[in-house]
Amino acid sequence: MVNYQEILQDIYTEIASSENEGKIASYIPELAKIDANKFGICLTNLVGREYHVGDSDERFSIQSISKVFAASLAFSILGDKIWERVGVEPSGTKFNSLIQLELENGIPRNPFINAGAIVVADMLITHLKHPKNDYLEFVQKLAGENSINFDFSVVDSEKDYGYRNAALINFMKSYGNIENDVDEVLDFYFHSCSIEMSCRELSRAFLIYANHGILASTGEKVLDKSQIKRMNALMQTCGFYDEAGEFSFKVGLPGKSGVGGGIAAVFPKEYSVVVWSPKLNKKGNSVYGLKTLELLTTKSGLSIF
Ligand code: GLN
Repeated sequence: MVNYQEILQDIYTEIASSENEGKIASYIPELAKIDANKFGICLTNLVGREYHVGDSDERFSIQSISKVFAASLAFSILGDKIWERVGVEPSGTKFNSLIQLELENGIPRNPFINAGAIVVADMLITHLKHPKNDYLEFVQKLAGENSINFDFSVVDSEKDYGYRNAALINFMKSYGNIENDVDEVLDFYFHSCSIEMSCRELSRAFLIYANHGILASTGEKVLDKSQIKRMNALMQTCGFYDEAGEFSFKVGLPGKSGVGGGIAAVFPKEYSVVVWSPKLNKKGNSVYGLKTLELLTTKSGLSIF
């Protein structure tokens, strides 16, 4: 039996005393207000046991981790049709890059870069009755926690400085890959990024990716086995933008990062794990988060490879 509590405690102590040259995301001013030294970890296994250290109960902006939930909800509603408007290839470019869109006729490489998540947001607006509310309820259900909510000051901050996302959506609209009003889609997209969750809540929500799509608390099948396989494959290949190869190389788990400093990862059939530390490297991924997960798979001797 692997002693996860001891491993997490060791990792936390080792990393918390190390130099962190990362920087908090400041292009969304509201995110820059966070205490840079926050650091929390939570691992939840398939039988529902939770192992956690540090600031694991404090909520933070999940940002792009939300793209996994949004793509999952769209996949569960539309099935394979979603891949007609968004691809499944790693981009190798920054999360908010415009460069490939023109060459590829407004079809984003994958649902985990901003352009892809904006197309997914457009699909959800078309198919959900009360898009923002229905989406929030979906995330609350996965985490088993109804108090999870949007952070409206982050939404406003993203709107005020969302020039690149506005460029992405207008560009895709010119190719016919956005059905709804661009402001409505951006409003949904910013809300989805602004959801606040703690490491413990996120780690519970990610358990479906380790558990064949089944929500452990109710037995409900949120996605089928094949769909979960595909979401994990996408996290493995596209979860860290132009650092996806590095994450695979060093950690060896499917995962997804966000510029709020969170990283969620999954060991299929074993556990989900979430780390939060706001200082990011140049690629927009949490410095301590990457280190923590590298040490986790190294110390436990377990990775999917
Ligand atoms: N809301 C952020 C944005 O649109 C999400 C980016 C991220 O977490 N990588 O830029």
